[in-house]
Amino acid sequence: MTPKSPKSSDPSSPRDNPFRALPSVDEALRLLESALDSAQAPTHGDAPRVIPRAVLAEVVSNEMDAFRQRIGKDKLDASAVQAEIEGGQLVARLLAACAIERGRGVVSAVNATGVVLHTNLGRAPVHPEVAERMRAAAMGYCVLEMDRFSARRNERDARLGRLLSRATGAEAGIAVNNCAAAAFLMMQTFAGGREAIVSRGELVEIGGSFRVPAVMERAGVKLVEVGSTNRTRLSDYADAITDDTSLLMKVHTSNFRVVGFTEEVDAAEMARLGAERGITTGWDIGSGRLEAEGAQSLDIVGDETVLRDAVASGVDAIAFSGDKLLGGPQAGLLVGKRAAIRALRKNPIYRAMRLDKVSLAGLEATLELLAAGRGDEIPSRRLMHLSVAELTPIAERIAAALSALNGFEAKAVDSESQPGSGSAPTVFLPTKAVRVEWSGHTADDLATRLRAGEPPVFVRVQDDAVHLDPRALLPGDEDRLMKAFGALAY
Ligand SMILES: *Cc1c(COP(=O)(O)O)cnc(C)c1O
Repeated sequence: MTPKSPKSSDPSSPRDNPFRALPSVDEALRLLESALDSAQAPTHGDAPRVIPRAVLAEVVSNEMDAFRQRIGKDKLDASAVQAEIEGGQLVARLLAACAIERGRGVVSAVNATGVVLHTNLGRAPVHPEVAERMRAAAMGYCVLEMDRFSARRNERDARLGRLLSRATGAEAGIAVNNCAAAAFLMMQTFAGGREAIVSRGELVEIGGSFRVPAVMERAGVKLVEVGSTNRTRLSDYADAITDDTSLLMKVHTSNFRVVGFTEEVDAAEMARLGAERGITTGWDIGSGRLEAEGAQSLDIVGDETVLRDAVASGVDAIAFSGDKLLGGPQAGLLVGKRAAIRALRKNPIYRAMRLDKVSLAGLEATLELLAAGRGDEIPSRRLMHLSVAELTPIAERIAAALSALNGFEAKAVDSESQPGSGSAPTVFLPTKAVRVEWSGHTADDLATRLRAGEPPVFVRVQDDAVHLDPRALLPGDEDRLMKAFGALAY
């Protein structure tokens, strides 16, 4: 609120009172609105982002509070305040505050980090045909929980389950919101109120404080840790089995590697032990490396287990992400034995995690592309396979364009990109990046300005310099990148 009453802070006539020179919030709001009408509104994709009037009023009120405080602090007189209003500085500040407000939330960004599956930037960008199917499902009605030929009620992921079976060799498959949900559902369904055995070397934190032991506890599972951080044998699992054991579980150590003197239990051995003792086996495999005919192998990301091999190991249920190596929308997929998948589906918690129609449509379309031998068209898979020879002309073109801008110096340099998203933490893909320097500015300053710009651009800061990695640039991104830099150059 007004920090000081104008009367008490300035006993002179109203004309000389700087606080009296301020427009009211309503007047300032009108000033801002007419400025916004004449400015070209930044867009988010094709759609302009509209700020509701109530939010604009809040922006104005905050700016006016800040103005009042500055009047007190800097002892501005009425004519100084008047000059700022007439000189357009007030409107400029209101517009800037508006741009920040508009720039929050989910807005389209340019990923020049080179990290293809960047969790903070939304992981896998989907194929245009996949996006089209998602759009159609989002904008209208769709056949979701019904078999339209028999008019019988149907599971929404029935067709997806068949596509997953065909792609992985599993008997059945279902989908939930993400792999974290899939892992939770698996633990809760098979071991809620009972014991689950997991190797000490696999009690991982996936990120965002999703720690296997903590999740197990919330799922009501009694965690029985076996082995050591670096070595766990099948006998460790076998020796820990009691009458209360109802799950033997493996968790992929997606985001780190233990190297040296290590041993982990083979999934097929664990599956055999489980089958012998009548105990369900589960595997949270995370990244979901689905190899498909006609598509280049994902062996470039290292030793991730191929899904078909994971299924062939005989483990009852395997959980993986839809938006990691698979390259589809966010989802958690579960594939495995028919009985295990049926048990997961019957858990009431499954209903609380069910996938929405938009992601479901996108997953079906992604798996269809893979089945059609078009896997290399899936953006994230294509980007991971880009060679230095393909990336070099892009890097050189960007470097030349940036060097032509006032104050910028850029050159193409050898560098390394990462697949990202906890997939293959030790794998680096050779790339050609653009090393950019902005005279009079630090690398962090440039990175910050680019992030806050329009469109937002995310870069890699390395050796005190901003590096733009063209690996994860999508069609149109080169122009958007230049637009963002153009706005900085003067
Ligand atoms: C990434 C990952 C998860 C979490 O997957 P989300 O789809 O992000 O929920 C769970 N487990 C493992 C092993 C992972 O690698």
